Amino acid sequence: MTKACRANWKYINGYVWRRMRIYSDVGIWTLIEDNKLAENLISNIIDQGWAVVEKPLKSDGFHLRSIKRIIINDKLGYYDRDITLFHELVHIFYGDKVKDEIVVEWIARKIRAHPQILRQAIRKFGLEEKIYDKPSYQAFSVYECNLDRQLEFDFAKGYFERFKVTIMDGMYSKVKKL
Ligand SMILES: [Zn+2]
Repeated sequence: MTKACRANWKYINGYVWRRMRIYSDVGIWTLIEDNKLAENLISNIIDQGWAVVEKPLKSDGFHLRSIKRIIINDKLGYYDRDITLFHELVHIFYGDKVKDEIVVEWIARKIRAHPQILRQAIRKFGLEEKIYDKPSYQAFSVYECNLDRQLEFDFAKGYFERFKVTIMDGMYSKVKKL
């Protein structure tokens, strides 16, 4: 992963859309449009013996095909950890077919934003489940993930923060009474 990949979504999305005609030929929509394929990719990678190792690093992460390891910087926040994991999964899937780091990042962020795929990847690799945005809420809420439900609580913005509600071991627990 290079520095360019820490760019904001607007930049990454604009970059890819401007080059869509070139890149759609190499199948950059493949994993995005086929959730089952993305889920199977994760299962297959794990079946092949791939694992995630979190440790101190200078970069965000990388992967080593020879020993089937995805190495992730253990100091990353959870969103960055997750997009780094997906970035490396996209590299493993495409290999030399997609070398442009920004395009890899674009595919990675798109599939990370799908709750079922996110849930599968985090659980199968045995990583800590964390809620930090809408897809991760849908993936890891103790309420059953039913994607047809309304899940944005516009009437209760900041609810989790205000009431210090945290999610531990799949249970809601009040950590601190205000
Ligand atoms: Zn990369």
